[in-house]
Amino acid sequence: MIELLFLLLPVAAAYGWIMGRNSARNQADQQSREITSQYNKGLKYLLDREEDQGLEYLINLLEVSADSVEHYLTLAAMFRRRGELDRAIKIHELLLKQPALDNPTKELIQIALAEDYVMAGMFDCAEEQLLVLVKQKNLQALEILFNIYQQTSDWKKGISIFEQFPTLFTKQQLKLGVANFYCELAIEKQQLKLIKKIINIDTNVVRPLYELGKASFIKQDYLKAISYWRDLLVQSPQYTPVFIDDLEICYHKLNLASDFNKLIEKEVARGGILIKLKYCKYLVSVDQTDKAISFLTASLEKQPNIRGFSSLLDLLAIKNVDVGPLIDEINSLVKSYIATKSEFQCKHCGFTSHTLYWSCPSCKHWESIIPSRGLDGF
Ligand SMILES: [Zn+2]
Repeated sequence: MIELLFLLLPVAAAYGWIMGRNSARNQADQQSREITSQYNKGLKYLLDREEDQGLEYLINLLEVSADSVEHYLTLAAMFRRRGELDRAIKIHELLLKQPALDNPTKELIQIALAEDYVMAGMFDCAEEQLLVLVKQKNLQALEILFNIYQQTSDWKKGISIFEQFPTLFTKQQLKLGVANFYCELAIEKQQLKLIKKIINIDTNVVRPLYELGKASFIKQDYLKAISYWRDLLVQSPQYTPVFIDDLEICYHKLNLASDFNKLIEKEVARGGILIKLKYCKYLVSVDQTDKAISFLTASLEKQPNIRGFSSLLDLLAIKNVDVGPLIDEINSLVKSYIATKSEFQCKHCGFTSHTLYWSCPSCKHWESIIPSRGLDGF
């Protein structure tokens, strides 16, 4: 509570000075005395540790000048940190009633009030505040509003904001967000054509191509699935582990296995370990196991990887039948180690999981969870 006093003393001093100056001009001595006395009363309550009454007194004195707005904002922020949202809201609402506020200050208070509402779960009130600000092209308001729609799974409203104000969506996270909103709505309504509306957004968004490929795959339209997933493989190779096995099935279903191998040969230099393992599988299928072993060994020397090591053991077991069972036994230990490792990791906050989430459950960023990399990854 002592920090409250430090915060409020300058407010009281500034207020006394302003009122003193004004009183000389407009003879407001009486009012000044009254409010100063109320201030003293409020501070006394605080000193006496009667916090509730003290704060009520001070909040009720808010019809002060614009000079003290900053102090009140700090005070409200402190209430919010303490979880006293009703007080933070009260201060912000009273501040907004001050007639002398300039536009930037007013927007600052509106944003702060919307944040209080969000924290208090009063999404409707927050939305109302924020929509006004978004119309005034306030980007901070747009981000908060978009987060509310994400939190409430209101994909339709988010898309509607994007369609009304597309030029405001300049930040990468907002672009990824809106693309994922289209995907969520398309899946919810089972109208995949909605995804096509966003597929050309000017950023490397992963999910639309992935979902379109997956939907085609389920419908056994393998040609279309290949088309979407090939584009995705070229655009965002780090996501290859998510769909490479199904992509291979597509080629096989269409009797185009040789085209799949050509694709793998083309991508092997820049691809991760799974592409390299697919390449080894191809070499083995054409009786070039020795070449596969030397390729994988050289690759692991450059970039050690536990999955690669396990596959190398598989290849060695094929070539060395006499010690095959022993190698298999070692490999089963390696595989049980791999099973303990998370397949996905958020590149923003480090959250790890066995599932691919399009929005990180921890930091809520869109498409920040990618297949794990490095020694234990892909
Ligand atoms: Zn995260």
